[in-house]
Amino acid sequence: MQDAGSAEPALALDPAVGLCGACDHGHCQVSASGSRFWRCLRAGRDPGYRRYPPLPVERCPGFEAARGNPGPGPDS
Ligand code: SF4
Repeated sequence: MQDAGSAEPALALDPAVGLCGACDHGHCQVSASGSRFWRCLRAGRDPGYRRYPPLPVERCPGFEAARGNPGPGPDS
């Protein structure tokens, strides 16, 4: 697993969502009206995270690149 810390994402993210959209712990829920909500699954076992983080999430120490996602690039 990868801990991105304060790394900047190198991939194109949905600017309205940010890191949660590319994170292994991010889960998108769609309401009956079609609205999308991003839930942080890490929040269920770590009180340091919000279940529904305010978007966009630009930095998160808990980010872990989702499978098949290249994740954030190196700091520099
Ligand atoms: S760990 Fe951070 S980036 Fe990942 S889903 Fe939770 S709030 Fe979003």
